[in-house]
Amino acid sequence: MNDIPSNDQIQTALDNAYAYAKTVQGGKNASYIPALAQVPSDLLAIAVVTVNGDLLTAGSADTPFAIESISKAFNLAYVMDLIGMKQLRTKIGADPTGEPFNSVMAIELHGGKPLNPLVNAGAMATVSLVNGSDSDEIWANMIHNFNNFANTALTVNQEIYKSESATNQHNRGIAWLLDSYGYFYNTPPMIVDLYTRMCSLNITTSQLALMGACYANGGVNPVSKKRVVKDENVPPILAELCMSGLYNSTGDWMYKAGLPAKSGVGGGLVAVAPGKLAMAAYSPPLDPAGNTVKGQAALQSIIKELNLNLFRS
Ligand code: GLN
Repeated sequence: MNDIPSNDQIQTALDNAYAYAKTVQGGKNASYIPALAQVPSDLLAIAVVTVNGDLLTAGSADTPFAIESISKAFNLAYVMDLIGMKQLRTKIGADPTGEPFNSVMAIELHGGKPLNPLVNAGAMATVSLVNGSDSDEIWANMIHNFNNFANTALTVNQEIYKSESATNQHNRGIAWLLDSYGYFYNTPPMIVDLYTRMCSLNITTSQLALMGACYANGGVNPVSKKRVVKDENVPPILAELCMSGLYNSTGDWMYKAGLPAKSGVGGGLVAVAPGKLAMAAYSPPLDPAGNTVKGQAALQSIIKELNLNLFRS
């Protein structure tokens, strides 16, 4: 393995990636959540946080956006720490569905068990495993975990939350379906609400890079120095990101990037180079699978320039 790149090398790679990604065309804002369609499409930001806790950025890295599916990768840490990987695997699988992130068919084809924690079914089942006697207590546990990763007090984007709550009938259907098969561990309407709230958290590109850097740093936040996830749970979570982090186009991403990553339909993307750094990108237009087009281009450019592909010796 080569060393952690210097901050100068990282900044140059960020500037090059930013200039390149600006020229990349294509994609459309998510529109199935109406408020996401209203976000300016030309926003672009990239950030890196190293395992030393250094932050480097290009573009509007302090602009908040909805975390959406990226939240799944961090709530998973909380629940895996809570009940253990073995127990979690009896409730939620680990394999890619090959289907869109909100597929019902993937559930039906596998005896009602959610195939992995990064699709909507598995992520809602994961939320249903968070401890707490009522909605407030469960949310307090969830947000505490997110705040530890981001090292700040995150807030819910109320506009996105309302918009998504008014249009999430499909997710409500999935939750009831899992419940009918015995793969849901709390009341579906309450859990779908908490899941929707979690997806509506505002995050900036800089904050997202820090969240990823906790994984790069073996589960310890490199800025606060607090442990945010057990050491033993970092590898399985990153393995999961390698298999399903970019929905049903994760294979395309892995061929080009060779790093665990997670995207969200808000336009965010975070990738982890273990032992070195994490990088995040934000740009709202998405490819057909739901991944940021410019964000993927930007991070692939950095990975190439800094030689971060995990599978290169
Ligand atoms: N909240 C979104 C949903 O449930 C998250 C999906 C995503 O980012 N892929 O559809």
